[in-house]
Amino acid sequence: MLLTALVLIVLAVFILESFVDYLNQSRATEALPAEVADLYDITDRERSIAYGAERYRVGLYSSAISTAILILALTQGWLAKIDNWARTFTSTPILISLLFIAALSLISWLIDLPFGLYSIFSIEARYGFNKVTAKTFIADTVKGAMVSVLIGGPIVALVIWLYQSFEDRFWLYGWLVVAIFSLIMFMFGTRVILPLFNKLEPLRDGELKAAINSYCHSQGYSLTRLFVMDGSKRSTKANAFFSGLGRSKTIVLFDTLIEKLNTEEIVAVLAHEIGHYKRKHTLAIFVVSNIQTIVIFSLFGWLLGYSELSTALGAQERSFHLSAVTFFILLGPLQVFLGLINNSLSRRNEFDADSFAKSTYRAKPLAEGLRKISKDALSNLTPHPLYVAFHYTHPPLAQRLRALK
Ligand SMILES: [Zn+2]
Repeated sequence: MLLTALVLIVLAVFILESFVDYLNQSRATEALPAEVADLYDITDRERSIAYGAERYRVGLYSSAISTAILILALTQGWLAKIDNWARTFTSTPILISLLFIAALSLISWLIDLPFGLYSIFSIEARYGFNKVTAKTFIADTVKGAMVSVLIGGPIVALVIWLYQSFEDRFWLYGWLVVAIFSLIMFMFGTRVILPLFNKLEPLRDGELKAAINSYCHSQGYSLTRLFVMDGSKRSTKANAFFSGLGRSKTIVLFDTLIEKLNTEEIVAVLAHEIGHYKRKHTLAIFVVSNIQTIVIFSLFGWLLGYSELSTALGAQERSFHLSAVTFFILLGPLQVFLGLINNSLSRRNEFDADSFAKSTYRAKPLAEGLRKISKDALSNLTPHPLYVAFHYTHPPLAQRLRALK
């Protein structure tokens, strides 16, 4: 019964997401909105459509295969087999769980690998975006795995230990661990984790730095942590972001952004990033994600008590990790819903940061900068509204330009 429900949920989420992707793809050749009608010449438009179509196809194959494997794993008792395998090494429950999670992560990484390799080294390369070398790819993979093991491992172990020791208050302690960890990441992620993968350097003195300083001065924003990051190590696509809370506030500009945009456009992008700080967006995201974590841990703590969550997958006895797999599948529809809320909140923040840049600097260079970034990345200018709701953390370009007018 529970197993049937799990399979149906996995299928339903797959069908829903594929349908949204299909809707988006079917609008790819639609007439461009007036604001962006002149962005692409005919060749660029064709390239943009072809690029979108290739990414759509590989995404569909990838999710179809992962879904099929997951359904097989559920119905054929493969997860219970991995659980039994982990039990051959140790009888300590936390270690069994860690081994199980490590094995499952490795398997899902292997399933995604061919699609990831094809996306980076074939699609992105053919459209001239990819800068990832085999060496960078391997280094990224090794470092990513080490970060997961060294940081993720102890946190998962702590959460499991908390469940074993304080089942009644698990929701509270589990949430606290995640909240403290995400606070640390919010504050120190760009200091500790990001430099493992990228080179961050202070902006060199010159015209751009002078223009940025004078804008920041006019806004009373103390620019302590502004970095230029070697985004060009992986892709030609330009970007910038804000992160951190309070005094840990950090602005990162990609070197590709500095290369492609002129001084005024870069200052406008920076003004947008400062808008995220001034309008307290990171704080709002932190609060909202914590509320969601409490809800998820409350449900988790409650449902973990039912041994059916493990036995439905073919296990003889209850275990934290098998129950967690079942729980996260059951959570799928709620996660889709939370994703819609989070994306909509994020898009609202983007409009808000744009309006901050418009009122404290100027709209025109921001609009020009955004146009350049989108044109360069062969962005889809006619996304389906439902696809935007499901996937876009930033509003489509035409909407942003309209709002800036
Ligand atoms: Zn933004």
